[in-house]
Amino acid sequence: MIIDLLYLVAAVCFILALKGLSSPESASSGNFIGIAGMIFACLAAYLSTDLSNVVLTLLAVCIGGSIGVCIARSLSMTALPQMVAGFHSLVGLAAVLVAFSAYYAPEVFKIVGEFGRIYKSSLIEMGLGVAIGAITFSGSLIAFAKLHEIYKGTNVPKELNAFLGSSILCLLIYFVLTDSQCAFWLLTFLSFVLGATLIAPIGGADMPVVVSMLNSYSGWAASGIGFTLHNDLLIITGALVGSSGAILSYIMCKGMNRSLFNVIFPSGQDDFSAEKGAATVRPYQKGSAEDAAFILKNAKSVIVVPGYGMATSQAQHALKEMGDLLKRNGTIVRYAIHPVAGRMPGHMNVLLAEANVPYEDVFELDEINRDFATCDVAYVIGANDVTNPAAKNDPSSSIYGMPIFEVDKAKTVLFLKRSMGTGYAGVDNELFYAQNTMMLLGDAKKTTEAIVKAL
Ligand code: NAP
Repeated sequence: MIIDLLYLVAAVCFILALKGLSSPESASSGNFIGIAGMIFACLAAYLSTDLSNVVLTLLAVCIGGSIGVCIARSLSMTALPQMVAGFHSLVGLAAVLVAFSAYYAPEVFKIVGEFGRIYKSSLIEMGLGVAIGAITFSGSLIAFAKLHEIYKGTNVPKELNAFLGSSILCLLIYFVLTDSQCAFWLLTFLSFVLGATLIAPIGGADMPVVVSMLNSYSGWAASGIGFTLHNDLLIITGALVGSSGAILSYIMCKGMNRSLFNVIFPSGQDDFSAEKGAATVRPYQKGSAEDAAFILKNAKSVIVVPGYGMATSQAQHALKEMGDLLKRNGTIVRYAIHPVAGRMPGHMNVLLAEANVPYEDVFELDEINRDFATCDVAYVIGANDVTNPAAKNDPSSSIYGMPIFEVDKAKTVLFLKRSMGTGYAGVDNELFYAQNTMMLLGDAKKTTEAIVKAL
């Protein structure tokens, strides 16, 4: 009774946590509700099991907890997507291990029927759990390596993935019908391979969608474990994670004007061996912090477009200070956030909230894009791909189709970055060379601080 109640409270906490995390204002309380839910869940799981392994259980909690704390404390915020991918891989691996435990010790899981045979429904759960878990595990590891830039990617023939996918489906059916040990192992092996071959060819600019998709897979894998362990909370939590990850993938695809199918099965062949970073050198206008301060002082309306570079340089506090100074001068200052700006969903919102930028000054792509045409200054701070007109004008570009901020329509564009190099997608940006663009080369934080001083 107590255990059921604890599970119920935990499930409600998780739902409320998701609700809280949907807005920057309530994200912090949402996070705490989630932590409380997890404590209730652990407590219930602990009370519902055989208490003979107290020492081992506590030891596992201590080791796991300490590793988690160390990773979280040592990680920079820009490396969060990698961390998320790394943690997803563990959920996938857990699903595989639980499925194997259940297969080799079915009596412990109470899934044996007449003549010592495992129930068909349990075979389905195990087969699905092992397949989704293995795909999540190897896919997440590849995503981690790509996001951490230790692996660039490889083109994989679509036919190979189609072959692996259909083989896995056939093996799954065969396994459920025959309970064949050989099919179970082969199913696991091919799923590990498919996870890697699915993610390896996906282009850099699509990695945010991949991370969120793997998040969804890991949720379904956890749900699968829940069925095997007869744990309702795990089923509910897995379904919450699975569906929220799927919805987020959909929202991001919409933000990049891509279909999920097109992201998972890229149509073109990418040149993964190409080095990115060095854009073609052409004449451009270079400015100083004093020039920028002069332009900003005379502007009636400024739209700030933050990107990954603002995060790496931690320029958000200096930016807020600059915004406040301009506002005091009577300038309208707004912040425009692209759905895939930075390196994870909500990256820019979190940083601006940390610097106490008022929520009412922060706008999404659809809300503000047409206002660039009437604004005096677009202050592009460490953003690049999300402003790149190639997404609109060049069908051969890897970012073609992604909606962008039309910053070129502003009277003046101030571009803060360290060099003339490209952004995440490795595509040169025509805007750097435009008549109305002034390049402010240097670290975004230092440049913004210099502008504040000049103002
Ligand atoms: P971006 O296209 O990667 O451009 C960031 C720019 O910041 C770079 O061109 C870099 O130029 C500059 N920069 C880096 N460090 C800097 C510093 N200390 N000071 C000043 N500038 C600095 O970033 P974005 O416009 O935000 O676009 C995001 C990209 O990441 C998209 O392609 C998106 O698909 C991808 N992505 C997004 C997510 C997500 O979930 N949001 C996840 C993974 C990938 P310099 O090197 O010349 O300084």
